Amino acid sequence: MSATQPRRILIAEDEPKLAALLRDYLTASGFDASCVSDGLRVVPEFRRSNPDLVILDLMLPHRDGLEICRELRTFSTVPIVMVTARVEEIDRLLGLELGADDYVCKPFSPREVVARIKAILRRATRGPAAAGGLTIDADRHRAEFEGVALELTPVEFRLLSTLAAAPGRVFSRARLMENLYPDHRIVTDRTVDSHVKNLRRKLEKVSQAHEAIQSVYGLGYKLEL
Ligand code: CA
Repeated sequence: MSATQPRRILIAEDEPKLAALLRDYLTASGFDASCVSDGLRVVPEFRRSNPDLVILDLMLPHRDGLEICRELRTFSTVPIVMVTARVEEIDRLLGLELGADDYVCKPFSPREVVARIKAILRRATRGPAAAGGLTIDADRHRAEFEGVALELTPVEFRLLSTLAAAPGRVFSRARLMENLYPDHRIVTDRTVDSHVKNLRRKLEKVSQAHEAIQSVYGLGYKLEL
């Protein structure tokens, strides 16, 4: 028995048998698992229960997993495991840079999924939310770098959260723009560049040890911690 609180897993899956199977496996492995089947209910349920990880089916009624994943990523770095029924779909999903942490194809072995979840949570405990001196508190909209609180605008906070969700991963400007402005406001690449510049300046004020936000020529930006 562990003295710590069980980790909470939110299962967004509309196939009742599959959802129940996952929930049972996760519960048996010591997790606190709950299910939601309607796409429209995932984000409200996430905000209510604040889970440690989300298993997100791509095809949900009323709202698809892509949209849900994107919305979650505008305010949270929670680990997301994306589930799809088609293995060919995974390449396309990877190309969309959704910021999911892992992809699983149906039919899957629940045992395998539980193993992957454990591995992701082990990584998440060490970071990346607190990797390389950077700590992001998505709930409070606060970020610290080397122990110093950063004074960020909401857009800068989203920018930093997006990059920090996957350190080392290159995010295109188009992808960043989508996350910065969920209302799909039209902004130019230069807008993204200027937010990056401001965010960089704030990080450099705390530590000039290395350039945390790096430009990747012709591609976009990445965070190196
Ligand atoms: Ca489904």
